[in-house]
Amino acid sequence: MAKYKLEYIWLDGKKPVPELRGKTTLKEFDQPPTLNDLPLWGFDGSSTMQAEGHKSDCILKPVALYPDAARKNAYIVLSEVMLPDGTPHPSNGRATAPDDPDVWFGFEQEYFLYKDGRPLGFPEHGYPGPQGPYYCGVGYKYMGGIARTIVDEHLDLCLHAGINHEGINAEVAKGQWEFQIFGKGSHKAADDMWTARYLMMRLCEKYEVDVVWHCKPIKGDWNGSGMHTNFSTKYMREIGGKDYLEDLMKVFEKNIPEHIAVYGPDNHLRLTGLHETQAIDKFSYALSDRGASVRLPVNFIKHGYKGYLEDRRPNSEADPYQIVSQIIKSISEVPVGEMAVA
Ligand code: ADP
Ligand code: MN
Ligand code: MN
Ligand code: MN
Repeated sequence: MAKYKLEYIWLDGKKPVPELRGKTTLKEFDQPPTLNDLPLWGFDGSSTMQAEGHKSDCILKPVALYPDAARKNAYIVLSEVMLPDGTPHPSNGRATAPDDPDVWFGFEQEYFLYKDGRPLGFPEHGYPGPQGPYYCGVGYKYMGGIARTIVDEHLDLCLHAGINHEGINAEVAKGQWEFQIFGKGSHKAADDMWTARYLMMRLCEKYEVDVVWHCKPIKGDWNGSGMHTNFSTKYMREIGGKDYLEDLMKVFEKNIPEHIAVYGPDNHLRLTGLHETQAIDKFSYALSDRGASVRLPVNFIKHGYKGYLEDRRPNSEADPYQIVSQIIKSISEVPVGEMAVA
């Protein structure tokens, strides 16, 4: 018998995007627990914008389990928030994405690391040199002091947890970074993303550094932060075709408001048509074009209009569950038979 620390984490009721919450319970198991061994738990929803004071119990339903390397004998238990009657809480975005093992998602999460109210590496007054050398850069004068230590420690925590990281890089603005997570199925990449965000925020506490997820923290000639969302269905990967792409993109264009509504707050500050973005009220798609709303990867056309697409509009603060839900919804509006999406 060993005692395990189980950190149940969940999304609160903050609008327009939720924030992470977590608390630990200790449970004894003969062997390391699996997801099925974990009980439901609960919390006071009146303190998380999820209930009124007089009837405040919310239920935590474990949906994914991650080994937690930062603590001994510990796991992170990603949970959905349920109402006492067992139905999903209105704030539960995960429950709105239908389960489909054949849809794949890859998120590119950009973010800033801040200390004392400014990005790591920014001088106390004024600005550092303009953008140019920071993207994928190296050296103290470009990267600032502690950033890379944090980024590397976070990567190891995520890998230990079984999060499917695909890469990391320093970004265009000073103090800005990116990690990429890929997952098969409606939920895996989004689950991993929320857990990776949790691990990053918790890690940064000890460095007295803040993670700034906002999409445009520095005004002026500095890149904002996105969360480009790469997606493919079985149909797109195996059949595809020019006609299908055009039909799909027509639906995306028709649904601009529905997509933008869940692509993160303040996105008008970022989607300006500058800094590798398309304007928020326009829709375009093109091969290899970083100024388009949707970019076709370089080999997409060569491979017979097959493969994945990159929606470049979601921002760094958006809820991946809501993004996934909306993309699946738009895909399901294209009539091509059963293979397009379950
Ligand atoms: P870039 O910065 O050039 O846009 P990245 O390498 O940062 O490219 O991100 C590309 C993303 O595409 C990765 O997260 C990867 O997992 C994802 N991806 C690759 N193939 C597929 C696919 N078939 N379906 C969905 N996502 C995919
Ligand atoms: Mn990228
Ligand atoms: Mn990027
Ligand atoms: Mn990208």
